[in-house]
Amino acid sequence: MNLAFRFGTVGSPLKTPPKPGGSVGAILYLRSLGLDALELGWVQAVRVTPATCEAIRQTAQEQDVAISVHAPYFINLNAEDEEWPKSRKRLMDAAHYGYLAGATDIVFHPGSYFGQTPAEVMRRVLPRLESCLEELRAQGNPVRLRPETMGKAAMLGSLEDTLVMARSLPGVEPCLDFAHLHARAGDGSMNTADEWRSALEAYAQALGEDALKRLHIHLSGIAYGPKGEKEHLVFEQADLNVRAIFEVLHEMGCEGRILCESPILEEDALRLKAWWQEIAA
Ligand SMILES: [Zn+2]
Repeated sequence: MNLAFRFGTVGSPLKTPPKPGGSVGAILYLRSLGLDALELGWVQAVRVTPATCEAIRQTAQEQDVAISVHAPYFINLNAEDEEWPKSRKRLMDAAHYGYLAGATDIVFHPGSYFGQTPAEVMRRVLPRLESCLEELRAQGNPVRLRPETMGKAAMLGSLEDTLVMARSLPGVEPCLDFAHLHARAGDGSMNTADEWRSALEAYAQALGEDALKRLHIHLSGIAYGPKGEKEHLVFEQADLNVRAIFEVLHEMGCEGRILCESPILEEDALRLKAWWQEIAA
């Protein structure tokens, strides 16, 4: 049955058996659960050999598990000039080794405003991102770069920010973290079908209807305050209305991947898949 979305986890499932372990074991375990996507959690650093990447790529291909990468947290497109090369290297390493591991999409946290307006930040950020893309393409690397929508109002990464980056630069598309968008509002809004419909209409308007067929989504429950995200929660303990999100995704004919980031990763990923099956039936 074609579900329109693949489901999986950000980082290896918690109950990945110790043998063979690692990302290869994670792929085999996800497949045994009936899940078919993995976002490699390279969130502290990119520390992987080409041989490991090749093993991940081969296993993922055999098991038909779609691979993406979560790049290190310590990337800031708006870093000071002397800091930027380090950020850039982290992103480029994630893209380079990610591609070797069979990843098609590289997710990253875009950075901070440092008190600047989004327009000022974009003047610095867009040329940097463009130079990354140029270098990747010159190397024959086709990965898509996915700035993630972020859960705190002080962080670069509103839906609008990510759409500006994506509209300006072919090869960039948002990673839609719906929990972050809900938390970022800080007042409980962004939690109804109407609000999600407007968000996805803006997405389609900026990037074209066909971009809705290759969404890269993060989902979890989330705790938040007036300034936004506090922590990820299991769906059961959170107020995020996943059903409203799924109804709109279904109504608008969206497709792609949904990666679960709740504290019980694969358990909630299976719950998401079951909810989606109910709505899509
Ligand atoms: Zn993230």
